[in-house]
Amino acid sequence: MKIIDLTYTINNSIKEYPEDPKTEIKYFKKPTQKDSLTLFEMRTGLHIGTHMDAPLHYINNSKKISDLNIEDFIGKTSVIKNNEFKNNIEKIVIIKTGWSKYWGNNKYFYNYPTPSIEFIQYLINENIKGIAIDTCSVDKNNENTIHKMLLKNNIWIVENIANSEKLSKEKYEAYFIPLKIETEASPVRAYVIDK
Ligand SMILES: [Zn+2]
Repeated sequence: MKIIDLTYTINNSIKEYPEDPKTEIKYFKKPTQKDSLTLFEMRTGLHIGTHMDAPLHYINNSKKISDLNIEDFIGKTSVIKNNEFKNNIEKIVIIKTGWSKYWGNNKYFYNYPTPSIEFIQYLINENIKGIAIDTCSVDKNNENTIHKMLLKNNIWIVENIANSEKLSKEKYEAYFIPLKIETEASPVRAYVIDK
């Protein structure tokens, strides 16, 4: 069994979505001698690195990350190209655009490929539970139509997945695991099992 990790590392040099809060990790208690106490503290937005959006991100008085079903984070997953209409798709869909090659570069956050409204409507009609993409957003900059379509239907969205170029098969068992936190989004550990 091989695991393909779809998660970016969170550290002080991670690039945030334009105008999102900056991430800062620092010592709260620096070790003063060998094997003494170490504590870090962190200040961050929640759409950092590989993360999940809950309905509350755009739909007022709707579900927070902690309200989502843990069963919906795990399961058979189809890997499809952006805007590729396919039969027999699984309840979780990974959209592979190839844009992750720009991760770490400011170019990553602009003019990235996004799914079409027709394609998203097709996925909603297929009753998917979640969608993951290898770009910073399912919407173009300053737009939110696709987010609202998905979140109104209680479909979680994972953005910024890493290593999508390693997903050579059409289907995997995937895991998109957020914190159990009462917020509109959460960093996730995302991975697939390559049997
Ligand atoms: Zn987000």
